[in-house]
Amino acid sequence: SSSRSAPAADDPALVGTPPMGAFWMPFTANRKFKQSPQLIVGAEGMHYRLADGRLVLDAIAGLWCVNAGHRNPRVTAALKAQIDVLDYASNFQSGHPAAFELAARLADFAPGDLNHVFFTNSGSESVDTALKIAVAYHRARGDAGRYRLIGRERDYHGVSFGGISVSGIGRQRSTFGPLLNGVDHLPTTHDPVRNAFSRGEPVHGIEKADALEAMLVLHDPSTVAAVIVEPVAGSTGVLPPPQGYLRRLREICDRHGVLLIFDEVITGFGRLGANFAADLTGVLPDLITAAKGLSNGAVPMGAVLVRDGVHDAFMHGAAGSVELMHGYTYSGHPLACAAASATLDAYLEDGLIAQAAALSPYLEDGLHALRGLPGVIDVRNLGLLAGVELAPYAGGTMTRGQAVAQQCLARGVMVRAVGDTIALSPPFTISRAQIDEIVDTLRAAILNTVDQPSA
Ligand code: PLP
Repeated sequence: SSSRSAPAADDPALVGTPPMGAFWMPFTANRKFKQSPQLIVGAEGMHYRLADGRLVLDAIAGLWCVNAGHRNPRVTAALKAQIDVLDYASNFQSGHPAAFELAARLADFAPGDLNHVFFTNSGSESVDTALKIAVAYHRARGDAGRYRLIGRERDYHGVSFGGISVSGIGRQRSTFGPLLNGVDHLPTTHDPVRNAFSRGEPVHGIEKADALEAMLVLHDPSTVAAVIVEPVAGSTGVLPPPQGYLRRLREICDRHGVLLIFDEVITGFGRLGANFAADLTGVLPDLITAAKGLSNGAVPMGAVLVRDGVHDAFMHGAAGSVELMHGYTYSGHPLACAAASATLDAYLEDGLIAQAAALSPYLEDGLHALRGLPGVIDVRNLGLLAGVELAPYAGGTMTRGQAVAQQCLARGVMVRAVGDTIALSPPFTISRAQIDEIVDTLRAAILNTVDQPSA
């Protein structure tokens, strides 16, 4: 190892290419990326600055997380203030005020009686925590026979062994051998034939929820602990739930004493134009997993929001005993709490969630105007979350999605290709003119990639 002085992030001319070999990049084609690295060296508001000096519009909010815009002034100020007061304090058998204050604010921000907050550092940790709470809840009530977990095809729940077990993405599971026992998967709600070019929640597919009833009967409902779904499956292509689907899942879970977990790592904190998907749909889950927009991406943080009845089931036994044998060194880290609290201020006091709701029809209209372009086979959207799906190329050196994303970047807009779907989830601080810029850029990129790129 050698020591290197940090490059000045605001002066791209000074940024050389760092040594590429040591960093094993996550979810990346390492060898390909490192041949022609595209580095991000700065950010401000709606934009990233690339190492070549170009400013690009960030249409995906980092990785669906920077909802309040990059380097949001409230967040920056709060982090600077916090680091001068308290850098770290454990929340194991001790505590610091910011964690308690943030938890109280989140309980207010969350719907219904989701009044209890377990802090984590990521979406994956939130999912693992929620699954463990669900199983332990039944055991705490003397119902230890409930251990099964039910996920859904095409849902993504992070990368822990628990998360990949309940996720419905074959390639992420098959790499790692046997996973958790007793896991089954509901069918995806995605219906490209009946629901193509749907706006908001699609009309068809409520009956897909009935697969849960059948699955419970198959396994014996008294063995099932919890069902976990993404209200809108994000990273597998932006798949909004059919109208009434989530409510029906809730009804079936209630009938059989099964907990319902919404993984709102993407959909939470205003992404759908409401605090949570649970608010938008009026369906209250027993637990919500959150991360990303919680701290505006500025510091890693996740949380599990838990309803009174689930939490209270643990608060028995000897008063001095630890009620849940679970936690992370950085659960409720002071800096993360400061960032999250300031992010909440941005959402609430600056009206950003209302702004996301107000802008969503404009984004919807803009994107649906792409219908009819060569290769565009579907457009899906809910709130400020959207996907434009393209017909795949047969074979080829890159997917159609990758080709379009690359073209967009060359034209100054950063989007994310998830398979052949172009995913969009801009910061809520976006203007109408910037939405136009995204749509116009996408149109040009799609028209420019009608033919397959040659090797
Ligand atoms: N759950 C959902 C719905 C996600 O979209 C993600 C990440 O994209 C995760 C869980 C995992 O979060 P993290 O990458 O912070 O571990």
